[in-house]
Amino acid sequence: MSKVVFLAKQAAPAPRTADARPGEALLDTRHRPLRDLRISVTDRCNFRCTYCMPREIFDGNYSFMPHAALLTFEEIARVARIGVDLGVRKIRLTGGEPLVRKNLEILVAMLAPLRTPEGQPVDITLTTNGTLLAKKAQALKDAGLSRVTVSLDALDDEMFERMSDSQVSVKTILRGIDEAARVGLAPVKINMVVRKGVNHGQVVPMARHFRHSGHVLRFIEFMDVGATNGWNMKEVMTGAEILHAIGAEFPIEPVASSYRGEVAGRWRYVDGAGEIGVITSVSQPFCGDCTRLRLSPEGKLFLCLFASQGHDLRALLRGGATDEQLAQRIAAIWHGRDDRYSELRGSAGAQHKKIEMSYIGG
Ligand code: SAM
Ligand code: SF4
Ligand code: SF4
Repeated sequence: MSKVVFLAKQAAPAPRTADARPGEALLDTRHRPLRDLRISVTDRCNFRCTYCMPREIFDGNYSFMPHAALLTFEEIARVARIGVDLGVRKIRLTGGEPLVRKNLEILVAMLAPLRTPEGQPVDITLTTNGTLLAKKAQALKDAGLSRVTVSLDALDDEMFERMSDSQVSVKTILRGIDEAARVGLAPVKINMVVRKGVNHGQVVPMARHFRHSGHVLRFIEFMDVGATNGWNMKEVMTGAEILHAIGAEFPIEPVASSYRGEVAGRWRYVDGAGEIGVITSVSQPFCGDCTRLRLSPEGKLFLCLFASQGHDLRALLRGGATDEQLAQRIAAIWHGRDDRYSELRGSAGAQHKKIEMSYIGG
């Protein structure tokens, strides 16, 4: 099986320090530019996926954040605008389940007018479990959302209920995907987390189902995020194993990645039935190209999905800081970034407590 090759990368941007001019790339200690901002708008969710929010931990006694602790839409939009001035080109809203936060389309409408220093629109996307998408897709599109990613781990209802620990049917999620495509939030990306020994038998049926659909199905290796999901390497179906299973049914060939920092290795069906992706954060880490900054629901910046600590912005936001002071703080945080957990996984440098996926949003 050939390895995913990252071709067609953008030219390396000029270095930028914390006080550099807008338009120049802000680089971290590993020369990675700031390009993506992932905004987690809530730590709550209407699912209890076993690999993310196991019900034994996230039960009635679990303390979710009080509403007053969350950044307001105005505060989020302000951080996003400053992020764009510093180099952000893509914004992804996530959670918890982002659509359980009331009136999310209002936040989308506040982000949609953002322009890069070169005057280009910023890509505004959303990752959702799809339960509320059929209802919300049109309002999100009208507000200016560019595209949507929907998580779906099985086509079989029983397996889906087992993975999501919910009573929601697959049909509900498929309806959400259809509605998103119908209103123009396309191409829709579908994320499937593959847990060996649990839903690995759904890989080929999922591939078959989404061939010719125009949607891009992406397989995610089960990751050791957080401290609650009981992760075990034996439960990781690697990208190579996934591609092997699919390739045995439907011949596939690699596609060059389209930009630096693209996390999914891209493949297409040789017969023209569409594209798939594999996100191999465990078997083939891509930290060297990681251009993502994460904002938590209560306003902390995290430099890595596997970080243990964030950098608080809320005190500055609520304490009267100017845009310039905020920009300097964010730039300084990015400038000092050294994170590369997936490359260190299993080594002494990676033995710390990690934040939960449901809090920071993937
Ligand atoms: N609730 C939304 C959803 O499920 O799409 C957004 C937040 S969720 C944390 C973001 C993505 O992270 C989802 O696609 C989910 O499948 C993925 N994810 C969660 N836990 C994971 C794990 N342990 N390993 C790999 N992916 C995971
Ligand atoms: Fe909720 Fe998404 Fe986590 Fe599943 S993966 S529990 S839908 S936040
Ligand atoms: Fe980025 Fe951290 Fe994931 Fe590496 S482990 S790709 S630095 S988020």
